[in-house]
Amino acid sequence: MLQQQDAVWFSNQLVSWYQQHGRKTLPWQLNKSPYKTWLSEVMLQQTQVATVIPYFERFTSRFADINALAQAPLDEVLHLWTGLGYYARARNLHKAAQVMAADYRGEFPCQFDQVLALPGIGRSTAGAVLSLALGQHYPILDGNCKRVLARFAAVSGWPGDKKTEQQLWQLAEQVTPKNTVAEFNQAMMDLGASLCSRSKPRCAECPLKLKCKAALAGEQALYPGKKAKKALPEKQSFWLLLQHDDKVLLSQRPAAGLWGGLYGFIEFASSDEREHYLALNALDVKSRNDLAGFRHTFSHFHLWIQPQLVQLKHKPDNVQEQSAATWFTIERIPPVGLSAPAKQLFQQLLAASTGNKDKAI
Ligand code: SF4
Repeated sequence: MLQQQDAVWFSNQLVSWYQQHGRKTLPWQLNKSPYKTWLSEVMLQQTQVATVIPYFERFTSRFADINALAQAPLDEVLHLWTGLGYYARARNLHKAAQVMAADYRGEFPCQFDQVLALPGIGRSTAGAVLSLALGQHYPILDGNCKRVLARFAAVSGWPGDKKTEQQLWQLAEQVTPKNTVAEFNQAMMDLGASLCSRSKPRCAECPLKLKCKAALAGEQALYPGKKAKKALPEKQSFWLLLQHDDKVLLSQRPAAGLWGGLYGFIEFASSDEREHYLALNALDVKSRNDLAGFRHTFSHFHLWIQPQLVQLKHKPDNVQEQSAATWFTIERIPPVGLSAPAKQLFQQLLAASTGNKDKAI
């Protein structure tokens, strides 16, 4: 805990700094609404502002309000999310929009408990929407705020640990002022994203430098504490890119689990299973090519992907156990949610098909 006078000093310093240096013209800060703030907050989780801006603009021009988002097919929502990663965020946005359409007539609720009960919204996001869009007095604690507070008060320990997180929440509650809460919370996020960066904090320019314990001790790199490292396990996946003329087969994954609801190529746990599948379906193969394998890393494991392109002489009417499979024309990225590696491979097919057409011309 901080001394009361230090907590007041902290918030005054930060609000004055924000008035001069803070970001005030980001797309979600113009004509503010809880809907836009919510959308931006969810997109900004684990993603930087510069990456989020074009996604936010595409999203809001397609889904002008909560009802429009609620009524859209999930596939379209996932398609507009493709490339931002952490797709559970998009699925939860869609679900939460449907709850708000049904229970709140398409309006964003303005009571903290109602907001917190929406799918995909935790304490910090609920506080961010209500404080930034409606000026309600709630603290926030995203990754940037955790870093600033851990350094300022020299809170050791990994913020993912319950005890450390609790300590940081107490500090956030202490420093969040009753008035100017929107400016203050925005300032916390801005300071963490700019001066108090992870690897090279620019303490000389920081409004908190005179009382920041980590900076005074020259120990910024120690805060926040790191999680004990474990080597990530590795898994293999054997993908089958079935192509006939200018069409390729994609199948939709089950709604729950990895890449839930997204489209991708047919996949197998081993190359034997892939062989078995080709034989079982008696596919009329014209040519087969192993494409370069590559690694995709999730937060909890590495996935080695071994893709094989199989060109078919005839398009089968049906393929075994792939009822949710659809043939897509290789002329543009299909308007459905694609996992990032599937999109990468589709782009390769697209480039190869464009190259072939150019040669034919
Ligand atoms: S003084 Fe340095 S370490 Fe402390 S909050 Fe500012 S930028 Fe971060």
